[in-house]
Amino acid sequence: MSAPQAIAAVKGFRDVLPDESRRWRALEEAAERTFTRYGFGEIRLPVVERTELFARSLGETTDIVEKEMYSFADRDTTGLTLRPEATAGVVRAYLENGLVQSDPTARLFYRGPMFRRERPQRGRYRQFYQIGAEVLGRDDPLADAELLVMLERYLAAVGARAARLELNSVGDRVCRPVYRERLREFGRAHLAGLCPDCHRRVERNPLRMLDCKVESCREIMTRAPVAADSLCDGCRAHLAQVRALLEQERVAYVMNPRLVRGLDYYCRTAFEVVASGLGAQNAVGGGGRYDGLVAALGGPDVPGVGFALGLERLAMAAPGTEAEAAGPAAVILPLEAGAIGPALALATRLRDGGLAIGLEPAGRSLKALLRAADRRRARLAAILGEEELRAGRATVRDLVRHQDRRQVLPLDASGPELARLLQAMIGGGE
Ligand code: ATP
Ligand code: MG
Repeated sequence: MSAPQAIAAVKGFRDVLPDESRRWRALEEAAERTFTRYGFGEIRLPVVERTELFARSLGETTDIVEKEMYSFADRDTTGLTLRPEATAGVVRAYLENGLVQSDPTARLFYRGPMFRRERPQRGRYRQFYQIGAEVLGRDDPLADAELLVMLERYLAAVGARAARLELNSVGDRVCRPVYRERLREFGRAHLAGLCPDCHRRVERNPLRMLDCKVESCREIMTRAPVAADSLCDGCRAHLAQVRALLEQERVAYVMNPRLVRGLDYYCRTAFEVVASGLGAQNAVGGGGRYDGLVAALGGPDVPGVGFALGLERLAMAAPGTEAEAAGPAAVILPLEAGAIGPALALATRLRDGGLAIGLEPAGRSLKALLRAADRRRARLAAILGEEELRAGRATVRDLVRHQDRRQVLPLDASGPELARLLQAMIGGGE
């Protein structure tokens, strides 16, 4: 009989191992700390929603709805979809849970996996993670500005120094149709040079041509009309005030007149966080205002503004410091079978005392055990051999400073006492 083959993960789906997830946790905790100061509370949303939620919110003509959703029929034939983004779910929850009455200007943040069936490549996966924030019920420019100040402060807090904020206005229901028509005319006039996707976009959703990733399309679109030239007075005033508030708070940004958001429901403020050094997938996050969305999902005419950051790309733009990857304070090394029980007792008491402690199996040479402790990046090694057992004390070696000063841990000491002694050894002599 042949050995069974190993089973691989699904294409575009990946594992996040401890070295990476440690960084992710730091990024998530920093988000929670920063966002809480701005009055946001966390919402935990389902990963599965009814397909029509996304069909209605994202628009039938977006790439996501046209070809990227993981949709399936439940056993009772209900159409379900793994969420490709979370804003639609936030709005559904805002309406369904009555926040629209009880907390109409709710500030909600979320984190979690999203699913899109895109072509996998560096920085682009079929399951990826986002951290996002949404402000409902506010249409004033102060809400946009406050959100952008928070975003900038968060990026600075996690050390994403090369990240740049790009800003634009894409107009509203008054002036966006005018701009859409101007783009359509431009697209029709340049049809020959545009990709097959953009051929469809010209008629169905011309703003999306600005978002095309094909190089020849990008080149042509650099000459396309810009939204700024078509804005109505209301949109112009809104943008001017957002900019004035950002400048007052010294939030650095650049105007990008060709910036549009991929999703249909955005209006007025649109922005993106772009980082250099990430290659083709250089957008760390994006967001904007979506004043028509709540109504489109069956609620009252409530405005909203928000953003989403991709955690994989954020971790690349803000890789963090080495200190986060520190190993255990000490590794316990039992040299022989008789030391197994005392080694576990020592480890348990130190762990109860709040320390990260490694524990190696018995039965190898001291040299092999010390090598194992080094591999774990431990600061100290506590050795338990025949001699130590007789004396009732573990010998402690400093694996970082490599000094031979003999230090010991009494095996009969209490957990807090042991933790205190070990901490003194780590802190001492610096
Ligand atoms: P892109 O232009 O890279 O396709 P997008 O406009 O589709 O991004 P949004 O829907 O605005 O992205 O999502 C916000 C962020 O989520 C992106 O800036 C990116 O960091 C992240 N993101 C989006 N799609 C993916 C993906 N397939 N894999 C990894 N991260 C992603
Ligand atoms: Mg995309």
